[in-house]
Amino acid sequence: MSIVTRFAPSPTGLLHLGHAHAAIFAWRRARAAGGRFLLRIEDLDPARCRADYAAAILEDLAWLGLDWNGEVRVQSAHLSAYRALLASFKARGLVYPCFCTRAAIRAEIAAAAGAPHGQSVGGPDGAARYPGTCRRLDPAVRQARLAAGEAYALRLDMASAARIASPLSFIEEGREIPCDPAPFGDVVLGRKEILASYHLAVTHDDALQGVTLVTRGEDLCPATAVHRLLQVLFGWPQPAYAHHRLLGDAAGRRLAKRDGAASLRSLRAAGYSPAAVRAMAGMPD
Ligand code: GLU
Repeated sequence: MSIVTRFAPSPTGLLHLGHAHAAIFAWRRARAAGGRFLLRIEDLDPARCRADYAAAILEDLAWLGLDWNGEVRVQSAHLSAYRALLASFKARGLVYPCFCTRAAIRAEIAAAAGAPHGQSVGGPDGAARYPGTCRRLDPAVRQARLAAGEAYALRLDMASAARIASPLSFIEEGREIPCDPAPFGDVVLGRKEILASYHLAVTHDDALQGVTLVTRGEDLCPATAVHRLLQVLFGWPQPAYAHHRLLGDAAGRRLAKRDGAASLRSLRAAGYSPAAVRAMAGMPD
């Protein structure tokens, strides 16, 4: 089977060395096997993504010496595809509208944590686990709130979904690893302003684009359980996974745009060659 990998950055800033590591990792895995390397721009969050960053990503990758196969998929150009996915989940009764604000969720979690049988509230993605308030809403109240045009997110009914699709596992570098999405709770799959969540869009697009090997940083490894669940629910093929280490700074801290990690652009402007930057990204030639 021919190998297809992808690099799927969100254009929320300029690429830094951590991105270079991830992109070269995916590119080399494809090229070493005579396979295809795809580029996808994950720009579904209009509040954080910018078109000029997306353009800069393409230019920086080309400067770094990477080429990709076919057209770049830009997620914001495919909103109707994600809308159709959510509609099919609605029709199967696997998602429900959630009207809660972040503040309301925090308050409810705090109250539950203080109760004698307070549930565990932390999701593996670091976000608080949703306590399920709107899953238990009286159907008449739900209808009235929808009719009133109240804003809502669509959450996956995790318990029902897991009943259909468990046990789950994924293949990491040839090894089968059991995984369980339950700790994520009722994850958001769609939101008014963003439409499709990362989990939904990334899993759909990997299937649509025929990605056979998903490579990404090990910070996203827990999310693979949610992605495997969605793959089973939609009947999508199962890609293999390779989660790579995250590049750290000299002090061992993870590189992040928000901390001003050196961008590829600034390194280029400072006179570093693409080969030197590949080496700095932990990917020497
Ligand atoms: N778009 C995600 C990010 O920028 C990566 C998606 C993935 O590789 O699964 O972190």
